[in-house]
Amino acid sequence: MTEPKAPEIIVIGAGIIGVSSALALLRAGHRVRLLDRTGVAAETSSGNAGAFAFTEIEPLATPGIMRKAPKWLLDPLGPLAIRPAYAARIAPWMLRFWRASWPDRYEGGVKAQSSLMTLSRAALERLLPTVDGETRIRREGQLQLFESKSEFEASLPSWEARRQQGIRFDLIEGQQAIAEIQPGLSPRFTHAGFTPDWINVVDPAQWTRHLGHQFVTEGGILDTAEVRALTPGESWVEVVTSTGSLRAGQVVVAAGAWSHHLARGLGDKIPLETERGYNTTFASCDFDLRTHVTFSRHGFVVSKIGEGVRIGGAVELGGLQLPPNYKRAEILLRKAKSFLTGFDPEGGTQWMGFRPSLPDSLPVIGRSPTAERVIYAFGHGHLGLTQSAGTAELVAALAAGRTPEISLAPFAPQRF
Ligand SMILES: Cc1cc2nc3c(=O)[nH]c(=O)nc-3n(C[C@H](O)[C@H](O)[C@H](O)COP(=O)(O)OP(=O)(O)OC[C@H]3O[C@@H](n4cnc5c(N)ncnc54)[C@H](O)[C@@H]3O)c2cc1C
Repeated sequence: MTEPKAPEIIVIGAGIIGVSSALALLRAGHRVRLLDRTGVAAETSSGNAGAFAFTEIEPLATPGIMRKAPKWLLDPLGPLAIRPAYAARIAPWMLRFWRASWPDRYEGGVKAQSSLMTLSRAALERLLPTVDGETRIRREGQLQLFESKSEFEASLPSWEARRQQGIRFDLIEGQQAIAEIQPGLSPRFTHAGFTPDWINVVDPAQWTRHLGHQFVTEGGILDTAEVRALTPGESWVEVVTSTGSLRAGQVVVAAGAWSHHLARGLGDKIPLETERGYNTTFASCDFDLRTHVTFSRHGFVVSKIGEGVRIGGAVELGGLQLPPNYKRAEILLRKAKSFLTGFDPEGGTQWMGFRPSLPDSLPVIGRSPTAERVIYAFGHGHLGLTQSAGTAELVAALAAGRTPEISLAPFAPQRF
């Protein structure tokens, strides 16, 4: 007699979180089906800056941010903006964002983010040799630039928070010292912090597709279908899709910025919003970029992608429906041209992506409070690529009923 097959685990969403989770579940011995309405790396995971930013442990809602925010918000093309048509909709999220900036919550946020970063870094190092990953990453560090002593000094609490979490960095003063790490920068940058342990992928879309390919090669099933609803049954979850219904033993919701729609259908109200980000990618570039460069004050980064560069960042609170405002990408590009000496590439491809963001900058990783066979893994905001390998290990532990390696209390879906 053949043994009855164990029920499938269905993972919804083939962005970096879903693909990584599906691969980890498959390798843990489950039968896994990965569903996406479009395909692998169809949304945010395709065009991001490609950084494993393990050192970024601070939530966006830092103490005092609400004093700075109005100044930013007055500039409609500044690094943080709310689309007027979305201002009323985003108000409840902003209230929670403000609460997350209270010192005790901020400190709890730093600790939780740190624990996930430590796990994610170790998980990435575990993953790399098993997927021929070393040739697909760059270990070139990150340079965060400041334009004055006072701006640099204002950043010192953040560096102190990193120091307390054991993160290595060098603080640098003077243009010559900065040029030793990255030549060709405008003399306006007088101070910097260099984090040598930062890693980048060569190309985030290719990386996600590579992991997706690995999943299929190892026996995972990848299907194209939009998931419309989840209905918990006695010992299964019914997954209602655009191509029919499926039954799963467990379901992982990793649908990025769209995940809360599925959660709401189960009765879980999770305040997921999107921080829209913009960038421009050039397939080739003459500027000798040696590390990942962050222009703190201006809210954007320059990173190597393939043989070229990607310039972008910014945060626009504007929901999932409003059309993109590519003036944001243009502004960042104009600034980059004045910051990087001799950088004047032609053309470039503009992109907007939907960061899936919770107000406290922590993802939701845990079982649905209303449907125990549903595991949530979404809301990684600015850090989805960074935290993908760690999240995948946590999802695999939850699915197997094992105690996860870190406390998941700060990431619980019901924390709001
Ligand atoms: C400008 C910018 C720069 C960034 N830079 C970085 C960086 O350097 N480092 C970093 O760590 N992070 C970065 N991020 C954030 C990172 O890109 C995201 O956190 C990450 O991509 C989220 O991955 P995800 O898998 O959760 O979502 P997504 O990649 O958006 O994937 C979600 C998937 O779910 C599918 N889906 C949605 N609803 C359904 C449904 N009902 N049925 C079936 N499928 C569905 C979608 O088609 C999509 O493929 C950046 C983001 C932006 C915008």
